[in-house]
This record gives sequence, C-alpha cells and structure tokens, in this order.
Amino acid sequence: MSEQKVENVIIVGGGPAGYTAALYTARANLEPLVIEGFQWGGQLQNTTDVENYPGYPEGIMGPEMMQQFRDQAERFGARFITDDATALDPSDGGVQRVHVGDEEHLAKTLILSMGAEPKRLGIPGEQELAGRGVSTCGVCDGAFFKGEDVVVIGGGDSAMEDSIFVSKFADDLKVVHRRPEFRASKIMLERAGERENISFKTPFVPEEFVAGEDGKIEKVRLRNAESEELEELDVGGAFIAIGHVPRSELVEGVVDTDENGYVLTREGSTRTNLAGVFAVGDLVDHTYRQAVTAAGTGCMGALDAEWYLRDTPPSPEAHWQKGGEPAEVAPTPSG
Ligand code: NAP
Repeated sequence: MSEQKVENVIIVGGGPAGYTAALYTARANLEPLVIEGFQWGGQLQNTTDVENYPGYPEGIMGPEMMQQFRDQAERFGARFITDDATALDPSDGGVQRVHVGDEEHLAKTLILSMGAEPKRLGIPGEQELAGRGVSTCGVCDGAFFKGEDVVVIGGGDSAMEDSIFVSKFADDLKVVHRRPEFRASKIMLERAGERENISFKTPFVPEEFVAGEDGKIEKVRLRNAESEELEELDVGGAFIAIGHVPRSELVEGVVDTDENGYVLTREGSTRTNLAGVFAVGDLVDHTYRQAVTAAGTGCMGALDAEWYLRDTPPSPEAHWQKGGEPAEVAPTPSG
C-alpha cells in the first residue's frame, strides 16, 4: 500500500474563488493544497484598476489584489504549487487524484476553481493593446472611457450588457456585430437600442486594432461581411464581448457540465455530481462573473468541503493511507 499523503482538500485554480476557498479551508485547519496555475491570479492578473471590489475605496490593481488574497490564505497555512494541473481524476466519494506533470497528489476533497477565459477574436492588435484601450470586460473597465468614442464587439447578451454599462461613460458607442441579426435577448437589445449614444453597426467583422503614437488604441479596422469593403473607425476604446470559455477541459466527461462546458452544481450549493468534488467561481457561473461573486462561491465551496469531511467516513482506499484519518475540522465560529 502506498504511503503517499492524502490531503484533506486540493483546490485547483488560483483566482478569487480558489484563494477564498483556500483561506476558509486553511482557517478550518484543513491545510489546503492549492494548484494555483503557472499564471496564478486568474483573469484579475490581466486587469489594471479594480474599483468594484468592496473594501478598496481607492481601488486596487488586479495583480496586487490577487497577491493579497494569496498572502491571506498563506498566513493560515495554505500551500501552493505554482504550476498547472495537467490531469484530474475525480472520484465519486473516493480518493481524488490531481496530476501536475509527473507528480500525483491525492485528496479526500477537490474544489474546482479553474475559472473561465474570455473568447478572443485572434486579430492583430488584440493582445498588444490589451490594457491599452482593448478590454474584455466592460463592467470592469467601462468607467475609464469617459468621453471616448468606443466600439463593443459582439451580438449576444454580454455585448448588450457591456454596451449599456459603458455607454454611461463613453461619448459615442457602436455595437459592431458580424451578422445583421443579433443573438441577444429581445429585452437586452431593446434596452441597448433605447440609449441615445448607442448605435448598431452590422454586418462588420473586426480585422485589426491599430495603435496611435502614444501606444494606445486609435483605430479599429472593420470589414463589411457582405460587400467586403474595409472601413476604419477612430476609437478610444474597444470592448470584446463575444462570450467566455469555461476551463473545464480537465474534467470533461467526468464532472457534469452544461452544453457550454460550465460545471453544473446542485442548486444553492457547490456540490457537483461527484461526492467530495465541489466547483466554484467562473467555472460554474456564466451570469455574474465578478471577482466578488467568485470569492463568495469560493467561500461556499470551502464550507461545503468542510462539512463533507466532517460528515463522511473516509473511503477504504483513503483510510489506509497517510493522512487518511478523518479531518480535524476547526469549529466554525458563528458570524
Ligand atoms: P453568446 O450568447 O455566445 O454571444 C456571443 C456573440 O459574439 C454572438 O453574437 C457571436 O456572433 C459573437 N461572436 C462569437 N465569436 C465571434 C468572433 N470570432 N468574431 C465576431 N463575433 C463573434 O455569449 P454571451 O453574450 O457572452 O452570452 C453567454 C450567455 O450568458 C448567454 O446565455 C446569455 O444570455 C447569458 N448572459 C445573460 C446576461 C443577462 O441576461 N444580463 C448578460 C450576459 C450574458 P454570432 O451571433 O454571429 O454567433
């Protein structure tokens, strides 16, 4: 029988959800192991000022905020592996297996918090001008575009929602969509259409974001999808809102997901279809997708894992391995 340690909990993913799960499980004496990813910090690592996270009245830079989340979890005993999980072998109530390259880590519970990433257009200037006028989050960055002429790219509800929000700050806003018909719900489309400074530009496909002399976005090049004619728009900002992709590929076919790959959890909890496997943050949530909501579900995942460990006898396989004894969970203070 192998003598490999069985952790109480392994958290896969190092964004607001994962670090909050780490903080709570660490404070419950569960000594969580966090596989935080090589590019730890999640989507906030690519964000500049965060002004909508409560408790930071002056705002904070995204990467700095993630460092603080991480430090806080570490202070209570969370351990980190700064590398990507390469394979996951989730079990229904048995030993959970996580691979990081050649290493295998075992645990009684697994908290999945791999997040989601915005879909990219894959055109020139998109990566180079990220944070210099090209954004994938209108709700996060809209307020920085006061008085600018901007475009929002996409034809779904996200594009409408971003447009409505950004139009409160921007001067002129054009929703650029590749087809004349929109995928967005009627009500969202109507709400966007009612705003005086929003207009719709279809059918146009973005071809390139062009920088000005100051290194910030100055123009967007568009191609008319019907006539093939090219057009340039002078802009101070461009928001890409063409959907998100959940990072559920490592649990595909094992953990239940919806048709878009978002992990399904039991209503009002973070429990997945597998006992001992919990899912939190943007991996689950395609609606709110905010740092503060991700952190909230990270907390829920930690408490669900804690209660599972308290109430579930160890599986026979875990029982005979190092660390397989029931977890000593710190009493949860009320309030
Ligand atoms: P979505 O519904 O999949 O829409 C994505 C849009 O981006 C589509 O119009 C698509 O064009 C366009 N697109 C995709 N790839 C593109 C590319 N390479 N170049 C140009 N355009 C591209 O995604 P979403 O808007 O993020 O919405 C996702 C889900 O969340 C939906 O169920 C939505 O209802 C929901 N949601 C709801 C709300 C709300 O109710 N408040 C807010 C946000 C999201 P085509 O139409 O031509 O494919």
